[in-house]
Amino acid sequence: MKKSSFLTVAITSLVFAGLAFAGEGKVENKTAGCCTKAQKADKTCEHPCCVDAAKKGDNCTKCKGSGKIEQKPAKQ
Ligand SMILES: [Zn+2]
Ligand SMILES: [Zn+2]
Repeated sequence: MKKSSFLTVAITSLVFAGLAFAGEGKVENKTAGCCTKAQKADKTCEHPCCVDAAKKGDNCTKCKGSGKIEQKPAKQ
């Protein structure tokens, strides 16, 4: 009986993992390539479309970004 109960636990956890994945159907936060480059150079992207999107707190979808800009926690 030990074997079958182990199997039940394994299957149950798999199902739960699957459900957890399904729950993450939200839009992925992805920074546009041009903006990532600018960030790495300690700048902000100067594309008008990116500046406009940033004002709304969004990543520029025109430059293949998506979702919201992830805010970094403020330095203390
Ligand atoms: Zn950009
Ligand atoms: Zn853009």
